[in-house]
Amino acid sequence: MLQRPEIKVAPPGPKAKEIIAKDGAYSSPSYIKEYPLVIERGEGSWVYDVDGNRYLDFMGGIAVASTGYSHPRVVKAIQQASTKFLHICSTDFYYASFADLCERLASYVPKMGKKRVFLTNSGTEAIEGAIKLVRHHTKRPYLIAFKGAFHGRSLGAISLTSSKVGQRAFFGPLLPGVLHLPYASPYRCYYGKEKKDCESHCICANQLETDWFKNHMDPKEVAAIFIEPIQGEGGYVMPPRKFLADLRHICDEHGILLVFDEVQSGVGRTGRMFASEYFDIAPDVYVSAKGLGSGMPIGAIVAKEKVMSWPRGSHGSTNAGNPVCCEAALATLDVVDELLPQIQKNGEMLIAGLSELQKKHAVIGDIRGVGLMVGCEFSHPKTGEPIPEFKAQLEQKAFSKGLLLLGCGQSVIRFAPPLVITSEELEVGLEILDQCLNELEKLK
Ligand code: PLP
Repeated sequence: MLQRPEIKVAPPGPKAKEIIAKDGAYSSPSYIKEYPLVIERGEGSWVYDVDGNRYLDFMGGIAVASTGYSHPRVVKAIQQASTKFLHICSTDFYYASFADLCERLASYVPKMGKKRVFLTNSGTEAIEGAIKLVRHHTKRPYLIAFKGAFHGRSLGAISLTSSKVGQRAFFGPLLPGVLHLPYASPYRCYYGKEKKDCESHCICANQLETDWFKNHMDPKEVAAIFIEPIQGEGGYVMPPRKFLADLRHICDEHGILLVFDEVQSGVGRTGRMFASEYFDIAPDVYVSAKGLGSGMPIGAIVAKEKVMSWPRGSHGSTNAGNPVCCEAALATLDVVDELLPQIQKNGEMLIAGLSELQKKHAVIGDIRGVGLMVGCEFSHPKTGEPIPEFKAQLEQKAFSKGLLLLGCGQSVIRFAPPLVITSEELEVGLEILDQCLNELEKLK
């Protein structure tokens, strides 16, 4: 029988409350904690809390639970690896799983030619390393990134990030020489205007040539353009294909490196192993993390061989590419490889289901995405203005009914479920979403 969410005790239940109280007393106040979910265990697309409630996860632990919760093949790989050795330090010594994972990651994204790989503990660390790599290779100081971008939270990475002011406030001075351009969106510009009203604000990549490189910044000083091929935290924004192609062209013209941050869009999320393949654009460097280890901490910088030219000792890490994480990543890639056709099909079904809901609920604005990386914007039916408070209410309402949702951007819900989710499970989630929207709309 098809499983459904089950809420036995309104969350947070008594056990959850106890843990939340202890956490609140001792943990850093910087944590966000979207809603009071206290997980005990998970299986596939399902999460169980400490009070016995069962939730359907439509956000994949923020696009990390690629193979779902505790996938048996990933768990087995972790168990086997952990009985052999937990650590030796990949910067200084060798082991098979490290070499295997580098080889495997170097096999993705055609048109990049021969590649080399540096493994990290996280997406942030991979971005940080990529900043160092592009500066080292080009001997140029400046970097270009995009408004709405999220690249992580170390000082270099937040210098590229331009998502929420609180992520940067009082941490400065940040890296100098970082230029943020508006990200190209076919439906709503960065300034929140619907596309039809805002032609003057919209960047076409050529603005770099006609304005920035002419009047403000010599392209010969620019090391790299960092871009999420689909913007994640900024609101699940899909750029027009031409935008990425134009950036590729501009980079080639000026010897600038193109870096794709695939931390959120990679590892099968789009129905291709990496979004670069979906757009058919080869960057010079791609960065991976999140879903790569199914939750085990691992990330990667993958660069064209001629770009990863830094010498021995110039970059390293004690724990990065840990043997247990490498095995988890190899098992994850095996599972995801098999899931790719299903991800594409289920993504289409999800978009079709949301489009059906859009006919009933005027508050649903743009629906966009590919594979299981789908964003749904909530906007005022008459003015088209985003309604951030509705997003927050919807997250809470869905949680109370056993559906885990997570917002991004101003008023977008991101649908990034575990890649193992079935079409039946997607239907259950859409049904609950419909109920939530009915109830919230009645309140108005
Ligand atoms: N890059 C992108 C596109 C991300 O979405 C994130 C995290 O959300 C990061 C980088 C940072 O990754 P991590 O949280 O693993 O450090």
